Amino acid sequence: MIFRSWLLMVLGFIGPALIWSPAGWAGMKAGVASIVITPDCDMWLAGYGDRDHPSQGKIHDLYAKAIALEDDAGARLVLITTDLINLWADFTDQAARRIQSETQLPRAAVLFNSSHTHCGPVLPDRLQGIHMAPEDQWNLSRRYAEELLEKIIQVVHQALSRLEPAQFHYGQGQAGFAKNRRQYTLEGIINGENPIGPVDHDVPVLKVTGNNGQVKAVVFGYACHNTTLNIDQYCGDYAGFAQLYVEKQIPGSTALFWAGCGADCNPLPRRKLELAVQYGKELGQAVIQSMSGRMKPVEGPLQAAFSLIDLPLEPAPTVNELQAQLLQTVSPMIQRCLRLILEEYRRKGSLPETYPYPVQVWRVGNEILVIALGGEVVVDYALRLKYEFGRGRTWVMGYSNDVMAYIPSLRILREGGYEGTSAMVEYGFPSSWRPEIEDRIVNEVHRLTDSMKSP
Ligand SMILES: [Zn+2]
Repeated sequence: MIFRSWLLMVLGFIGPALIWSPAGWAGMKAGVASIVITPDCDMWLAGYGDRDHPSQGKIHDLYAKAIALEDDAGARLVLITTDLINLWADFTDQAARRIQSETQLPRAAVLFNSSHTHCGPVLPDRLQGIHMAPEDQWNLSRRYAEELLEKIIQVVHQALSRLEPAQFHYGQGQAGFAKNRRQYTLEGIINGENPIGPVDHDVPVLKVTGNNGQVKAVVFGYACHNTTLNIDQYCGDYAGFAQLYVEKQIPGSTALFWAGCGADCNPLPRRKLELAVQYGKELGQAVIQSMSGRMKPVEGPLQAAFSLIDLPLEPAPTVNELQAQLLQTVSPMIQRCLRLILEEYRRKGSLPETYPYPVQVWRVGNEILVIALGGEVVVDYALRLKYEFGRGRTWVMGYSNDVMAYIPSLRILREGGYEGTSAMVEYGFPSSWRPEIEDRIVNEVHRLTDSMKSP
């Protein structure tokens, strides 16, 4: 296996983590910041291929938020969350390079996650083929991406500039609105509801408190497609409402949501604004309840590792086979996707056999293990990784650093259906992943985790 690896190992000192010194605090520090990223005009909205007009105003603002953590040895991590459909490799590469040159934070120490709201602006990512947006809308989208980059750099600087002594506690709540959506019928697997399908209802929570006892930040996640709504207004969907709920319950705090491995789960029932508000409240209440119960303190050291592994694809069809598919397909959306693939074929002379897939691991003390995976990751990964690394202390994020396609488990790849195989073409891949991808990803998580020292 060929892999490029940027590996950061930052190890703090074992010992009393909270030490006062004449120079000030020698323990953990945190800084948090947020910035509005709602577009300044109406734009085509992301996520659904059947949209036929730009947005019309907003329900509430979209945000990019950053939380910086620092241990007593000076090692730093920055988590960036965004109310957007996703971020993509070119964008996060560029942002991470800027952050590294301006703050000396290495790639492994910066983690990008998106809430996967389908009521944010369309982005110049791998999903362009699904949209029927006209060219002027793509110009707006590219301009938006340039402005977004500047805002993300700004919010990271702000979070770092606000680093001050803080205490960290973690806990876990539960929220039950995520339902497995892979419904097995005589006609095959459809996007419906499967009451006995796997789900991950855990709500991991990190509470960050300042020296004055004030909660500065609350970081939480959930594994469910952020798709209650298919409306034409900017909105963070249930994840946006959950963050607003937590911030209202704890005045002065910043709530940061990260999306877990819920690619094959939907908030059901859905499609009503009041349901998005209700799910946001359910998730927010799970967060607040876990904070009023027993939470465990967590300290440094902070460690981080990041790598790109070559995830193998099945052999691509030939140009003739792709052209035949184009003639046979009746869906204008799939036709658009196939034309983009044919263009790529002609431009490059071939199609890729692998994709550089990001795997990132953070360790906070001996307690929290953050595993951040790229793509739309199905719930099987969260369940397997929590089983292998310990539930309650293992956070498994999807939609992190790059979203290039769905990431099926071996089970789902073999079963097929949307998340297994048929969504690949929407992301610009004319063939499926190869069966070994689940073990490749999980093995890489183990390799990165093994490379870290036990505090
Ligand atoms: Zn999705």
